[in-house]
Amino acid sequence: MIEVKNLTKIYGNNVDKALDMVKKGISNEEIKNKTKQVVGVRDASFTVEEGETFVIMGLSGSGKSTLLRCINRLIKASAGEILIDGRDVLTMPAKELEELRKRKMAMVFQRFALLPHRTILENVAYGLEIQGLDKEKRVAEATEVIDLVGLKGWEEAYPQNLSGGMQQRVGIARALATDPDILLMDEPFSALDPLIRQDMQEELLGIQEKLQKTIIFITHDLDEALKIGDHIALMKDGQIVQIGQPEDILLSPASDYVARFVENVNRSLALTASSVMVRPRYVVHPKDGPRTALNFMEKHGLSTLFVLDRIGKLKGYIRAEDASEIASQGIKDLGGIIQTDMPTTGPDSPLAGLLEVMAYTKVPIAVVDENNKLQGTLVRGSVIAGLAGGRGEMNNG
Ligand code: ADP
Ligand code: MG
Repeated sequence: MIEVKNLTKIYGNNVDKALDMVKKGISNEEIKNKTKQVVGVRDASFTVEEGETFVIMGLSGSGKSTLLRCINRLIKASAGEILIDGRDVLTMPAKELEELRKRKMAMVFQRFALLPHRTILENVAYGLEIQGLDKEKRVAEATEVIDLVGLKGWEEAYPQNLSGGMQQRVGIARALATDPDILLMDEPFSALDPLIRQDMQEELLGIQEKLQKTIIFITHDLDEALKIGDHIALMKDGQIVQIGQPEDILLSPASDYVARFVENVNRSLALTASSVMVRPRYVVHPKDGPRTALNFMEKHGLSTLFVLDRIGKLKGYIRAEDASEIASQGIKDLGGIIQTDMPTTGPDSPLAGLLEVMAYTKVPIAVVDENNKLQGTLVRGSVIAGLAGGRGEMNNG
């Protein structure tokens, strides 16, 4: 959905000279010394898939905000391409750019930037007003997103009556009001207290599950990046030094720099399977039959299901397509389609070794005790959340 190719941003008035030096691989520092030009972003390329949360992480000054602002052209990039649905933002006519900003993209800032003399409802409805919607529609849509971010009842309050966390909920509601496909979020939670911040991260995950926007989210906090990112890009000195899924960043840091960044997060060494497993709520027994199993899988969006015997011992798992097959043949017992090649582990196994198993298997890892009774399952989300310091509400023990 968003494709950034070889994007470079130079601050200053002798851009060509500096661009030339970037091409030659000359360092930011030397460029600055020789030309007084500041390199904000250098030669960044990445792709953001529709519906994913793409996190850009890096220390202060590494170029995150510059990169983000180039995407909606708040800052004009010096070189490269920014394709949104195939259209280049850099060369787009003004009219098209305006439409893009009005309808397709919205931005959430670290400082909430609410209008102080407008109510919460009016703040949230602001973008709809700009779009020219009539009042009744504006109120209806703003009310709906205010409810979505958990602020029902606060419509008539003013920003100064709200805590920082609540103000940022308004910031998110305001961005969502125009129903944009893309959200650009520049350290939206960085100014908030740690506990409020965790609430907001969970809120965002919840909203994202419902709305599946394409989000580019900036943070300098690795825990936050791991928790909410589908992909993470790490920046240093204006450059992207690694892009990957959270597991990739944790397991195979591309450089010493990244390794140092993740060092403190090596909680996987201390965490065990039982600390992040989820309760095995979704199981069947062989006698349940394929129709029951299929209904169950459909209802909960599962493609596989663990099979337990009468006393809770793990027999294996079944796949939806096999259940469907025997159902159509009129077979009533699941016995014939139980697969036994699933990964299992004990509750006390360290997570470090399991992450790699998870990367290669489509079936959740089964956590079993010494009698082979199913204690829990490890799904990707809960493991990543555990590594990212989640508060353990997914914890079974
Ligand atoms: P981050 O958001 O990661 O903290 P920024 O994108 O704000 O980083 O900054 C990247 C680099 O560009 C820094 O060296 C910063 O000093 C420089 N920079 C940012 N904005 C400007 C500007 N308007 N003029 C000159 N240099 C700037
Ligand atoms: Mg910034």
